[in-house]
Amino acid sequence: MAKNIDKKLKLTFCSGVDTVTGANFLLEEEETKTKILIDCGLIQGETSAEEDNKKNFSYDPSTIEALFVTHAHLDHIGRIPRLIDAGFKGRIYSTPPTKDLTRFMIEDAAHLLAHGQNVKEIERIYSEANINKMMSMWDTIPYHHPFVIKDFGINFKNSGHILGSALVEITYQGKKIVFTGDLGNSPSPILPDCEEITDATYLIMESVYGDRNHESRDDRRAMLEDVIEDNSKRHGTLMIPTFSLERTQELLYEIDTLMGKGRIPLVPVFLDSPLAIKLTEVYQKYGEYFNTEAARLVHSGQDIFSFPGLRQTPDVEQSKMILRMPNPKIIIAGSGMSSGGRIIHHEHNYLPDPNNTILLTGYQSAGTLGRYIQDGAKIIKIAGEDVPVKAKVAMISGYSGHKDSEALLKFVEVMEDSVKQIFTVMGEPKSSLFLVQKIRDNLGLQANAPEKGQSVWLEF
Ligand SMILES: [Zn+2]
Repeated sequence: MAKNIDKKLKLTFCSGVDTVTGANFLLEEEETKTKILIDCGLIQGETSAEEDNKKNFSYDPSTIEALFVTHAHLDHIGRIPRLIDAGFKGRIYSTPPTKDLTRFMIEDAAHLLAHGQNVKEIERIYSEANINKMMSMWDTIPYHHPFVIKDFGINFKNSGHILGSALVEITYQGKKIVFTGDLGNSPSPILPDCEEITDATYLIMESVYGDRNHESRDDRRAMLEDVIEDNSKRHGTLMIPTFSLERTQELLYEIDTLMGKGRIPLVPVFLDSPLAIKLTEVYQKYGEYFNTEAARLVHSGQDIFSFPGLRQTPDVEQSKMILRMPNPKIIIAGSGMSSGGRIIHHEHNYLPDPNNTILLTGYQSAGTLGRYIQDGAKIIKIAGEDVPVKAKVAMISGYSGHKDSEALLKFVEVMEDSVKQIFTVMGEPKSSLFLVQKIRDNLGLQANAPEKGQSVWLEF
């Protein structure tokens, strides 16, 4: 039998296709049977999500050599404790910030998941002991420090999506397979731009916004300035429901910049999210992962996530005190879609007053409280109570953390000469298929939207 000729790898899309969550991809070397995983994320948002998360993995976790983690969003890390519980004994690799952020994200998820059914199982899987075990199996490798696992060369490159987010570049038989994780909507206020990849042979790419383009990013800071100024003039409370990871830190940095330049008045800002407070501390540790301007400020001794007037309220009692603080004031709290978290209490208190403002800075999923507010509902229900929405509703969409359709196409365009096959993952079917069509039509490249559980052979 001929050896080292026509070597093959089997790539399986275990989950993270036909949907934007649940990233989990398996690469298997045909000859040595070495198996590696890329991401092991929670399936979120769909009605069947809870059931899907509980399902056994389609492979035997004890046979997996290594898991590479692109970034610390739950849809990329949330099922790692379950993988360990199911027998995974290999090593986990990511950049240093991803490992630090993961611990807090998983601990927070454990609280949320514990509210579901099967409390005993969740308590076992997300126990402190199992989370500690996960951390002890985890090695960190900075960007551009290539390393070798069996037949695979691995290199993390910056994807510009959240702190520490990586594109995983896998070299096999001299050719490159690239898993994008999530691709950042560069330029970001904090992070360097997503790196260009020009020499991938196989590309497994996210497609969250495969069929849509974002509004201009240029105006986002000016819009934020206007909303804050307007709120101060009206002596109101400005509520900003926001995601704890990256969006909160972006906002803190933007407010810090605006205050520093005297563009907005010095009003009290309450960071009312225990998770966001912990995650911001991780950001403060990693100034070297910021873009040139943000890194320069950190280097000169500035804390870019803090400013006069910022108050953190990790405890419930402190959170309740916010109500007694005089206006104008700003409250930043989770969750980003008002589907839970402390923002709900503030919405209950402040939405009925027309002098107040609620500012939506991210995508609001259908069925969430945030979506009802965005769609102009006059009355919403909070804890069974009718709450009139009289506060002003403002929106800024330029803060999206994902590349839009046009930017995704540009990302592919530069690898036109090398790329043999592209797989679109992590998107709703409409979005993934639209991107496939665009890649075929505009660039004449081979692209496919794989199905859940599908395996393909990659040839070298
Ligand atoms: Zn992400």
